[in-house]
Amino acid sequence: MIDAQLKKDLIAYSKTIGIDKIGFAAADPFVTLKDRLIKQQELGYQSGFEEPDIEKRTNPPLLLPEAKSIVSIALAYPSKLKNAPKSKRGDRRGIFCRASWGEDYHHILRRKLHLLEEFIKGKVPDARCASMVDTGELSDRAVAERAGIGWSGKNCAVITPEWGSYVYLGEMITTIPLEADQPLEDQCGTCNKCVDACPTGALVQGGQLDSSKCIAYLTQTKGFLPDRYRDKIGNRLYGCDTCQTVCPENKGINADHHPEMEPDPEVVKPKLEPLLTISNKQFKAKFGSIAGSWRGKKPIQRNAIIALAHFRETEALPTLYQLLEQDPRPVIRGTAAWAIGKIGTDDAAEKLKEAQITEEDADVLNEMEKGLMFLENQST
Ligand code: SF4
Ligand code: SF4
Repeated sequence: MIDAQLKKDLIAYSKTIGIDKIGFAAADPFVTLKDRLIKQQELGYQSGFEEPDIEKRTNPPLLLPEAKSIVSIALAYPSKLKNAPKSKRGDRRGIFCRASWGEDYHHILRRKLHLLEEFIKGKVPDARCASMVDTGELSDRAVAERAGIGWSGKNCAVITPEWGSYVYLGEMITTIPLEADQPLEDQCGTCNKCVDACPTGALVQGGQLDSSKCIAYLTQTKGFLPDRYRDKIGNRLYGCDTCQTVCPENKGINADHHPEMEPDPEVVKPKLEPLLTISNKQFKAKFGSIAGSWRGKKPIQRNAIIALAHFRETEALPTLYQLLEQDPRPVIRGTAAWAIGKIGTDDAAEKLKEAQITEEDADVLNEMEKGLMFLENQST
């Protein structure tokens, strides 16, 4: 039997623990999502970070036997960086995407979901619950859409009428039957701003994302970044916000009521050059608490090198030479070689040629060739 009072109590309680929006959905299989995921897999649109088992991702009872309903929660996060430091010549800075500002949202959402679970168990002791956030099997977005939290925009984000798409999502499957909310209507209409603004064409018409082209995914990979995307990532160190910042539904929205989500400007917009030689210990101390550090320092350093090339930061060349000669990681040596060629000064070719003599890694040698080619083209 549907528990109407418990739903009311849960809504009231959620407000007291800082949940900005709560919605309820049936725990039925996600049939349309399943079809879409199969199609995405066939088209090679997946990032590889997602749960590989499509059945698990679309069938809640497989995750919690006797599942009856799903509680979806949304927490609004800030979109404006107060006192943002300036990125100036000789002191260029990179940027972490908004979803990585403040304390890692996985921790924040897990705490809220845990409190909700305790609350439910206080009322219904034999209830069973399974909570998940982002890395869980279920699709946060599909659940939020079904639970009426927001509609799925053409930018593939869930857009809430209250907070735009600047929301973290999490969910809890429960064995308690709770009345489902109505999904919201798609309000994108004829707007196509996000699709037009995406720097890599990762948004496919009809609200599909080709993750393999998306900068948010590419900035998290650990190998060499494919050449065609290097000029597109700009100064992004982790993630990409372009399809959210251009969205009219996000205009003027800045949720700054969760103190734990407030960004430290020196952390989320850090100087690029010092990142190149940061130790593991220093990296952990400075960036360890933000979501954007989950892949470790190497991808961030690789992206910082690309960002320095984007700014043609000649002042960073001595540090790039040092990486080229001494860094033990081929991705870093090779990306530095590429960046040296892009930035290009009189001694760059000489440095690259010198390093070629002792370099043994084929990928790095290839990047050195590219660097030398840029320099040659500049001088002709
Ligand atoms: S996050 Fe960036 S790269 Fe990815 S779809 Fe949005 S605009 Fe395109
Ligand atoms: S930019 Fe326009 S089309 Fe894209 S999600 Fe926002 S409203 Fe929808």
